[in-house]
Parts: sequence; C-alpha cells; structure tokens
Amino acid sequence: MFQQHQNQVRFLDLASVNSRYSEDLKLIAAEIIESGWYLLGEQNNLLQTDLSAYLKSPNVVLCANGLDALRLILRGYIELGHMKAGDEVIVPANTYIASILAITDNGLVPVLVEPDLATNNLDISKVERALTPRTRAIMPVHLYGRICYSDELDRIAKANKLKVIEDNAQAFGAVWQGRRSGTLGDAAGFSFYPGKNLGALGDAGAVATNDEELASVVRSIANYGSSKKYYNDYQGLNSRMDELQAGFLRIKLKHIDAENEQRRNVAKAFSTGITNSCIALPEHPTPETEHVWHLYVVRCERRDALQTHLKNNGVETLIHYPVPPHRQRAYSQMSHMTFPLTERLSDEVLSLPISPVISQRDIQLVIEAVNSFR
Ligand SMILES: *Cc1c(COP(=O)(O)O)cnc(C)c1O
Repeated sequence: MFQQHQNQVRFLDLASVNSRYSEDLKLIAAEIIESGWYLLGEQNNLLQTDLSAYLKSPNVVLCANGLDALRLILRGYIELGHMKAGDEVIVPANTYIASILAITDNGLVPVLVEPDLATNNLDISKVERALTPRTRAIMPVHLYGRICYSDELDRIAKANKLKVIEDNAQAFGAVWQGRRSGTLGDAAGFSFYPGKNLGALGDAGAVATNDEELASVVRSIANYGSSKKYYNDYQGLNSRMDELQAGFLRIKLKHIDAENEQRRNVAKAFSTGITNSCIALPEHPTPETEHVWHLYVVRCERRDALQTHLKNNGVETLIHYPVPPHRQRAYSQMSHMTFPLTERLSDEVLSLPISPVISQRDIQLVIEAVNSFR
C-alpha cells in the first residue's frame, strides 16, 4: 500500500500549486477580511489594472467565471445591436461545452466546425464554408493552451464583418506575433477556475476587449445591468468577482510566466521521452510561446486500454473531452449531426499529468509508464 501511494502521479495537485504562495495568499486574505469590503473594491481595481498591463489590453472587466465572461460578451453585442437571437456563431465542434452554452444561453445558434488534427484547434480552412447570411461571430478556442489564430482568420472576419470572440479560458499567457492571447480578436473571455493556468481559489473570470463601448455594457450587465446604483439600463446578471479572488489572482499573476515556462519544459520532456509508436504526441508550435500547455493531450487508438495501463502504473489521467457537445443530451437538437474528426478525438484523446509543480521523478514515471504500454 505504501509503495502504491509513493508511486502515484496525480493529474493535478492544486494544493502544491498554491502552497508555494501560501504566505502571500494568507496575508492578502487577512487584509481583505479586515477591510470589511468584499465586492467591487480596491482588489478588483488593482487586478483590472494589472491584467490590462499584462495583456496590453485597454479594457478588462472582471466577472464571476469564464462561462459568464463569454455570455457577457455575446449579451453585450446583442445589447449594442451587433447580433440578435437566431444569429450564428462559428465555434469548434470539439470545444468544452461552456463555449457552446454561452452561445445558446443568448438565443444564438452555434455552428460547429471540425478541428484540425495537427493542432486540435478549429480548422480555419473550413470556416468560410460554414458562413451564412446570419453568421455574426467566430469564437476561436485556444484549446489545451494552444493559440488558435491566423492572418487568414483575421481576413475572413474582416471581409464578412464578423466579431472574433476568443475563448481564452485555457491559454492565459500564450503569445501570437508578440500579442497575448485574449487581445487578438475583438473580445475575449478568460476563466480563472482553480485548475486553469492562472487559477483562483474559487470561481473567477474576466472579459478583455479593445472596444470601450462593449466593455462598458459588459461591466454594467455583470452588475445587474446598472452603472449607477439603483438605476438599471439592462436586464443584467449578478456576475462579480470576489475581492478575495481578485487579491489571490494579483499574487498569482506575478508568477504566471514562470509557471507557463515550467509547463513548456514538462511538455518538452514528454515529447522527447515518449517513444511509443502506438501514441501520437501533440505537435509543438513555433514559436513555442504560442502554447502554454494547459493540457498535454496524446492520442491513442486504444485509449481506454492506455488509460487503464497508466492507472495500473500509478499515473492518473483525464479525458478532455469524452463526449463532444453535439452528442450531449443537453443538445439533442444536434444529435443528427456528424463530425467525424471531433468524434474520433473524443475516442482517442488522453491528457497526461502536467503542471508547474510536477517533479522530475514523476515526469520520468509518466514517460516510463506510457512507453511500457503494448
Ligand atoms: C473552463 C472553460 C470555460 C469556462 O470557464 P469557467 O470559469 O469554468 O466557467 C470556458 N471555455 C473553456 C474552453 C474552458 O476550458
């Protein structure tokens, strides 16, 4: 039993991730507790400024979680008259369900487009075919931490007057052509869910946009649709970030570049060390700053057998994601659709443990366990 525990490689050890900063986290928590001010206060203001500076984005609006960030952007565009119920948003078919939920929650229609198997991201060469007179936006998702953007995407959006809304939940800190993910399109949703690269100690999210008008509508909708207390311009939501989470995130933001670099090193070690021919490894982009390795996802035709083998060798893995959105009961209206690449991915993908705190020994254990699969 002891031996078993010793050799266990956990998928993600959040306590270890955060304990490196526990002194600073406790200090800021104490300061906020004693301040008596728990929402929309100094920490929110400071984090907004810090994020604006880090991203080089003129407008950052904090909110309660990543799903709300995307909901708020779409809702903002509806309020501003850029789109209305029944309009279409292009989105990768293999994304996490939240991207799709944000679209349908606003009465908009998700138009699913297959991913590119080399990147696991939206296949931009298939976007034009999916356009209709009702298309209003494209939502590229930087899935697993890898940038999904190109000059071609930019061209398609501009030529068709489409908004580009990045789902940047998984790629905080990634860089494309010198710009941070979340500043490439018109607006971006961020998630600070604890397991994300920049993770809070609870739920939190943000919107970044170069559109001042959108930012001000989003800020209002996130606070009951009100910008002046007790006067409501929109039928808004309650989607604010706690001062505690804002304080924690300010501390963790200082370390995000170092953490992302640690993730890149783990990814490099896996990609050099894993030599099993049954397993397809993720491609590394150049430059490498285009990827922050939120997840290290391999593919294997006998994925379930591989997962069992790894479990028997003490390596915990997860599947992102086992059921694509169009095959979920929640979206039975899409169940007649087929997306062969997306469906194949859901049968073949497996996420290996990756984090800024995984030890060299655990990295070796993962590599040996994967290489010994037959
Ligand atoms: C996590 C995630 C979200 C939603 O973020 P929450 O903070 O959990 O609401 C949205 N899109 C993607 C791709 C995600 O991974």
